[in-house]
Amino acid sequence: MSSDLVQIRNDIRDRTTTAREVVDQTLARIAQSNTVLNAYHEVFDDEARSAADHVDQEIAAGKPVGALAGVPIAIKDNIVTRIGRTTCSSRILENYRSPFDATAIVRLVNAGAVIVGKTNLDEFAMGSSCEKCAWGVVRNPWDSTRVPGGSSGGSAAAVAANLCAAALGSDTGGSIRQPAALCGVVGFKPTYGRISRYGLVAFGSSLDQIGPITHSVRDAALLYQCMAGDDPHDSTCAPRPVEDVVTTLEETPKSFRVGLPAQYRKGNSPAVDAAVAHAVEFFRGMGATIVDIDLPLTDVGISTYYVIAPAEASSNLARFDGIRYGHRTKSASAKELFDLYAQSRAEGFGPEVQRRIMLGTYVLSAGYYDAYYRRALQIRRLIKHEFDAAFEKCDVILGPTSPTAAFPIAGMTDPLAMYMCDVYTVNTNIAGICGISLPAGFDETSSKPLPVGIQLQAQAFAEPTLLKIARAYERVQGGRAHPKI
Ligand code: GLN
Repeated sequence: MSSDLVQIRNDIRDRTTTAREVVDQTLARIAQSNTVLNAYHEVFDDEARSAADHVDQEIAAGKPVGALAGVPIAIKDNIVTRIGRTTCSSRILENYRSPFDATAIVRLVNAGAVIVGKTNLDEFAMGSSCEKCAWGVVRNPWDSTRVPGGSSGGSAAAVAANLCAAALGSDTGGSIRQPAALCGVVGFKPTYGRISRYGLVAFGSSLDQIGPITHSVRDAALLYQCMAGDDPHDSTCAPRPVEDVVTTLEETPKSFRVGLPAQYRKGNSPAVDAAVAHAVEFFRGMGATIVDIDLPLTDVGISTYYVIAPAEASSNLARFDGIRYGHRTKSASAKELFDLYAQSRAEGFGPEVQRRIMLGTYVLSAGYYDAYYRRALQIRRLIKHEFDAAFEKCDVILGPTSPTAAFPIAGMTDPLAMYMCDVYTVNTNIAGICGISLPAGFDETSSKPLPVGIQLQAQAFAEPTLLKIARAYERVQGGRAHPKI
């Protein structure tokens, strides 16, 4: 079976294969590898088979097929689906079943996609390693002793290991791009407001964005196009038409400028720096102008993010109290309502989520609000201005996605060190612009080769340009290697 989404769709449409055959092969691969990888929390064998049969019947009846007809897709488990559970990899939502599908899911299903299961994440999408998942750690398909990145690590591992044709992730500070880089696949975070957040369990509402994790830029463009666009259920969704990024994808701009921030060169592993240097030569070779740019606020992105994101999380996660949503304590000692809230939350949330809720509550509390939260919002504005100024000089910004390749499981114990994994990705969300991580070779210094990613960022709503330039890079990179799992 091809791993290319467009190829799979075409083969099903042309009846070279059937949707049922594709889904059966996918389910067989999951059965074989998921015990090691733990990419999926729940697999929808029966529902996926009957969705595939339905697609085959429509094709047999000569009905027009959707853009994703029969394509097996995995969904990060913080995006609600009517089938199965939506747990956010948290005990507090262990048995939560959504009464509705997220808008992104409705659009995928309308295009004919077959939802095969829900993938693991760091609890409530807080983390960069998929070790903070209530259903066990997720493993990197390239080296199962290493993390897949996070928080959409289950989705990235599932795509890399071919346990689906593509997956959805969510990105609040890098959670699509960083795991994509560490697993050697494509991860695309669209502009804030491009894809509806309706049905995405909110973490940092002003930062969150759903996006695709795929084998190729072409697949990412297609999924994006199927999901993007206004939604009456999400008032922050941009009411602007979505350009056709699929048919224009091969039209590489005749001239474009690639910006290289001085601040993106510190503390990276040699393999990461080499991948960026190689990409610079590639873009220079195809006639792009390379410009040095300055993003001095890169370093303060992490501190700004760790005020704004926890502040929003502390408010968003208040609904998981054992009454409105989530696990309710059975402890007899919870006699008052407050005790019931406190005990349910203490039992249901893991330590990292509790840390963020406390941090967020602190920065929003009277007396600290001005010093932390308001200050962070002011810096957010400056970061936005800094990008605006940079995009006067260039069309895309090139740099690493993550400073290093995948690190060993249990190898990063300091939470601050973990937060630093997102140094190149958080500001994309803070500024609300778009970014994509592309596979860019391997770090060969460890016992097994580990994928390395490069990131391209572009101005808000510049997805057509971003995707064309990313595709030009991908074309030259040629066929991708696959992990042996
Ligand atoms: N790793 C970052 C965090 O822990 C970003 C997570 C995300 O994008 N959801 O918050």
